[in-house]
Amino acid sequence: MARFFDTKIEFLKGVGPQKAVLLNKDLDIFTYGDLLQHYPFRHEDRTQFYTIAQIGADMPHIQIRGKVTRVESIGEGKKKRLVAHFRDDTGEVELVWFKGIQWVLKTLHVGTDYVIFGKPNRYGSKINIAHPEMEVLTGRTSDKGHLQPIYHTSERMKTRFLDSKAISKLQRALLAQCHQRIRETLPERLIAQFQLLPKREAVVGIHFPSTAEILQKARFRLKFEELFYVQLRLIQLKLTRYEKFKGQRFTNTDLLTRFYKEQLPFPLTEAQKRVLREIYEDLKSGRQMNRLLQGDVGSGKTIVAFISMLIALGCSTQAALMAPTEILSVQHYQGLKEYADSMGLRIGLLTGSTRKKERRVLHEALEAGELHILVGTHALLEDKVQFKQLGLAIIDEQHRFGVAQRSRLWSKNSDTYPHILVMTATPIPRTLAMTLYGDLDISVIDELPAGRKPIQTVHRFDANRLKVNGFIKQQVNQGRQVYVVYPLIEESEKLDLKDLMDGYESIARAFPDTPLSIVHGKMKPDAKDYEMQRFVKGETKIMVATTVIEVGVNVPNATVMVIENAERFGLAQLHQLRGRVGRGAEQSYCILITGHKLSKEGKERIATMVRSNNGFEIADVDLKLRGPGDLSGTQQSGVLDLHIADLGKDSHILQMARDAALELLDKDPSLEAPENRSILEQISIQKKNAFNWSRIS
Ligand code: ADP
Ligand code: MG
Repeated sequence: MARFFDTKIEFLKGVGPQKAVLLNKDLDIFTYGDLLQHYPFRHEDRTQFYTIAQIGADMPHIQIRGKVTRVESIGEGKKKRLVAHFRDDTGEVELVWFKGIQWVLKTLHVGTDYVIFGKPNRYGSKINIAHPEMEVLTGRTSDKGHLQPIYHTSERMKTRFLDSKAISKLQRALLAQCHQRIRETLPERLIAQFQLLPKREAVVGIHFPSTAEILQKARFRLKFEELFYVQLRLIQLKLTRYEKFKGQRFTNTDLLTRFYKEQLPFPLTEAQKRVLREIYEDLKSGRQMNRLLQGDVGSGKTIVAFISMLIALGCSTQAALMAPTEILSVQHYQGLKEYADSMGLRIGLLTGSTRKKERRVLHEALEAGELHILVGTHALLEDKVQFKQLGLAIIDEQHRFGVAQRSRLWSKNSDTYPHILVMTATPIPRTLAMTLYGDLDISVIDELPAGRKPIQTVHRFDANRLKVNGFIKQQVNQGRQVYVVYPLIEESEKLDLKDLMDGYESIARAFPDTPLSIVHGKMKPDAKDYEMQRFVKGETKIMVATTVIEVGVNVPNATVMVIENAERFGLAQLHQLRGRVGRGAEQSYCILITGHKLSKEGKERIATMVRSNNGFEIADVDLKLRGPGDLSGTQQSGVLDLHIADLGKDSHILQMARDAALELLDKDPSLEAPENRSILEQISIQKKNAFNWSRIS
């Protein structure tokens, strides 16, 4: 049955080899099934007709009926335009073309009845419609009107007669052929429970809905189905892993208790305690932990990591922490070392720049089990690095490591896998986490330690620079340090570097007596490190930099973060940058500088930053503004090949789908029940279509 939908698209009437190549290349459409799943991204409401007398320039795209009475060419050369006078019983409007004039002249017929579709504009005292869509009035267009599907195409497709309309024709032809072959893919019970449209009706309805209500129902049904299958597979993966991978069982908490009694530097927040309970439950359960720990910058993940390590260490195993960069590794090492020293535990640091001799010492101590904790970069993954018994592997900033690397950490033990804790400071909205990390358990530290002064964020325009400089001076005089950050985006790298240099010079002029640092991506790593260290040590007071400082730098004495051209940063990035200040006892500030002209989205991003310090709230807005594909730091574009569901907007459907999948697998874990046969079938079709599950998590 499924074979039919695997038919190559070139065999569809009206396609042929040449158009097939375009469909392959530009839209990834290879088969009948692919075409059907190329859903329209919107529909134009052609259910309503206006009269010319009703038209106003503030209207959106509208539809009118009438006749062309006269056509004239106006102007010369580049300014040449074609004007058609279009009438109905109520008045006249001008249709205008600036391009393709010859073609329009050839096809336009005076006296014929047309349906016109376009956006009215005011031109002087008159109203015109530029480049309207025109269709000769026929039975179908005149009596009923309809919701017309609009499909994505490419520029080159449009020039080769494969525009949205052409695709719509292909869809119609295909649906006529395959309608009877579309089979239900969800069990009766779910269809009844969620009042879903049957699959066949949904597929027709998404392309050619008879009413807006049908369209909405079709969308809902298809989104639900899509998310349901994603969740089903993720939950299955997790269940399989529970069964397959036994974990080391850690039940001795003596070390932990001693730390709590003697060395705990501060009372833990409720969130930290809750997360630690969740981790401990996993570590003593006998199955392998695979947990994602999310916590905003400054939420106190380090101590949670350390305490988790203590549970592993208390049971005579070792712990490792891997971070994506050298700087981050060093900082983790320093943070953990303080705690480790207090407990008399041995901790080591291994990075690319660890010397050979030191390496050997580390390797030996590690293999002998004398080294308890090893912190480092991906240098940890080298084969030479052998633990006596690795109990817990913590990975910081997961998105910078691939899954492959994660699994190499797993294989550091020959008999049982180590427990895995992935830490991230990039808040991911729940809906997205549920999907991207659907096979991991998730813990969230959603509370900052008490007494933290929230960072004050303000928005200033370029024109206020003098005032901003005054403020910086004041802070520097009080002994504080300041970051000034410039955007660096690859395409415009040269320009940005110039911006940065100009900025540096103007700061140097404004602060002639203040020692400055500058750091950017074009510098050699050594030079970069040297400058960083000068700032970290407090030798320099102002750090002018591109976003290289985004990750990890911890300078508690820095209280001001100035972000230049703030409108060019994404929300997640702005939030990460802001997290570089507010790490000490002093009040900290974030100053977002922009030009006067801001896009609507730019305005909303800035306003969100000014309003909120909450990383999860910011991530939610980010997801809504940009969609998950762009959400920085998660690199999930292409991971999840969703055709219709939108993780940013469909979180309620996702929740429903996930609950339904959980319930179903709870009742019928191996999907053996006859009523679930359609599900099994669907899964095997999806597998065959190379839905790339290995890229998830
Ligand atoms: P993260 O890694 O989540 O950004 P850190 O672990 O570096 O945060 O903690 C940030 C700062 O807060 C550190 O100086 C740490 O000592 C401190 N801190 C962490 N937890 C608490 C707590 N419960 N009470 C007070 N201070 C805390
Ligand atoms: Mg940290």
